[in-house]
Amino acid sequence: MARFPYLKETASHIKESDPSLDDLLTDPAYEEARMAGERRVFEALEKSTIEDHSLVSDAEILNELLSYPVARMIVSCVGDPFLVRRYALSEAKTANRRWLDEDNEFIAGLSNELDVDHRMEDGYIKIHFSDFLKNTAQMRSKGWKLINQRLDGGYVTLSRQKFLRVLQDALRIRIENELPLEVNEKILETFRGPTLELIDKIQEKKSKYKAEDFGKIRTTRLPPCMNRLLATLQTGEGVPHTGRFALTAFLRHLGLRPDDILRMFSTIPDFDEGKTRYQIEHICGMTSGTKYTPPECSTMKSYGICYNPDELCGKIKHPLSYYRLKGKKRTA
Ligand code: SF4
Repeated sequence: MARFPYLKETASHIKESDPSLDDLLTDPAYEEARMAGERRVFEALEKSTIEDHSLVSDAEILNELLSYPVARMIVSCVGDPFLVRRYALSEAKTANRRWLDEDNEFIAGLSNELDVDHRMEDGYIKIHFSDFLKNTAQMRSKGWKLINQRLDGGYVTLSRQKFLRVLQDALRIRIENELPLEVNEKILETFRGPTLELIDKIQEKKSKYKAEDFGKIRTTRLPPCMNRLLATLQTGEGVPHTGRFALTAFLRHLGLRPDDILRMFSTIPDFDEGKTRYQIEHICGMTSGTKYTPPECSTMKSYGICYNPDELCGKIKHPLSYYRLKGKKRTA
């Protein structure tokens, strides 16, 4: 239960046994559990994972078990959508890592709990196509497109590993939908310290890129599409793969260094430094030998990332032309 605290069985166990909410918030006996909950949220925010802790003694198990409801209360006290997304993603990624050691019986029970319609056959797992679509909406690579799946009688056949990845998103969505919880004055008061610290850290992450990171680039000359993609990054929301490509190629063409571009992407909830660095360096031509050009406006439109075109957009065919033209207009 301590390893899988989001299961209904765990929630019922906590409800039926001690402590009461009041004890959990105030009793010195639960100080360790409150600190473990705090640590859980900070790990999620800073490392995008929940680390494994020793579960040998009864006290360690109890602290780990209670750290989950405490963490949810703390996330709710902060109430910032960026933290909710980061926390939900970290819990789901950690869960996936732990599911790898579990047998199919456990996975079947978990799927039922997450309302994922599935069947297990011949070493493969089949998932109803509607649940497949619902839980893969954020996966942009070709390998996840429904058209590229083996579909039989309304069910998509997946390997165990891919099925667990779908369950990861089902859990992430569920945690995201559950938070923030309503928190009363007593909860707010108990966690005021970590709440303020988290608000500061989130602010720091959101403002990781400021005007100076753009160097000689004039942010006032950016076209609406690039402004929107940057704003989306800043709030920590996911940017589609096509948007990441367009933004990286655009900023590189204006002279921004790969390290500065990398910093901008660091606010994304599923930020993976190694992978992002590889992609940026590839687009910038450092590893591929090709310095990619940002897409034209017509391509941006077909990708669905041409946002709120303005009057100047009517006179150009490429986001880079917008930047150049706007510069000329200002100096004229
Ligand atoms: S018209 Fe071109 S420059 Fe303007 S918002 Fe759309 S893609 Fe960007």
